[in-house]
Amino acid sequence: MDIRKGQRWHCQNPKCRSEIFVSASSRVQGGSNLRCSCGEIMKKPYVRPGLNTFESAKEAHRNLAASPR
Ligand SMILES: [Zn+2]
Repeated sequence: MDIRKGQRWHCQNPKCRSEIFVSASSRVQGGSNLRCSCGEIMKKPYVRPGLNTFESAKEAHRNLAASPR
């Protein structure tokens, strides 16, 4: 499975709902899913071609600031 730079992955746990913004491309070994720190799998949303990366980055920052830790 490829994890591409610029993607946002969403945690499937409704009590967590955290999301990560991929800042560097990487590859997950063995075809396993990316996992959140809570242990739930993370899913890759549909990404439109020509996505405005500035908008995504701004949104990611807002979500980071809003997430309770
Ligand atoms: Zn989670």
